[in-house]
Amino acid sequence: MSKFPSKAKVVIIGQGGIVGASVVHHLIERGWDDIVGIDKSAIPTDIGSTAHASDFCFNTAHDQMTIFTTKYSIDFFEKMGRYERIGGIEVARKGDDERMDELKRRVTSGKAFGNRVRMMSTAEAKEKFPLLEEDVIQGALWDPDAGLVVPRSQTVAGELVEAAEKQAS
Ligand SMILES: Cc1cc2nc3c(=O)[nH]c(=O)nc-3n(C[C@H](O)[C@H](O)[C@H](O)COP(=O)(O)OP(=O)(O)OC[C@H]3O[C@@H](n4cnc5c(N)ncnc54)[C@H](O)[C@@H]3O)c2cc1C
Repeated sequence: MSKFPSKAKVVIIGQGGIVGASVVHHLIERGWDDIVGIDKSAIPTDIGSTAHASDFCFNTAHDQMTIFTTKYSIDFFEKMGRYERIGGIEVARKGDDERMDELKRRVTSGKAFGNRVRMMSTAEAKEKFPLLEEDVIQGALWDPDAGLVVPRSQTVAGELVEAAEKQAS
């Protein structure tokens, strides 16, 4: 292990999570150097949220910033060969009309921001996910661009830090 520096231009606390890893990657990409990353657990993290996440990217929020950052992340992971665009379903149970209205609102917001999200019938939802109990749902949302970071976002965090270390040495 290298000697712990007494000063640096940038200190990232929480280096082992996906956010710390992303920050160091993007700083180096923009020409920054003299960066120190520290973490109280491991790098990549073994106790942080990144180590527990389901690694799913779902781009159906109501605000443009969330849509922008999620789309950026999907493209970023895909370029690294770390994204599986498997699509995502959200369902509304029969009798839960508020949930059904919310899914329709999310489709409207998604379309306003240029997404391919749409509502689909219960039959189509069943076709896409055969384990679904079609008779207990009234409708479903389908986002064809949703998907999974593979094998884990924890792995990606480690790879980003490793690449940053290589570039800095
Ligand atoms: C069960 C679960 C499922 C999830 N599923 C999804 C999902 O499907 N899709 C999605 O987008 N998001 C999901 N999330 C949310 C996502 O995991 C987090 O938003 C993301 O991982 C946060 O990353 P982070 O780098 O900010 O934090 P973390 O991954 O928690 O990293 C923070 C790091 O900071 C370190 N640290 C903390 N305090 C200190 C300190 N004082 N000194 C030094 N180091 C410190 C910790 O050790 C840790 O390594 C899920 C979260 C959980 C818990």
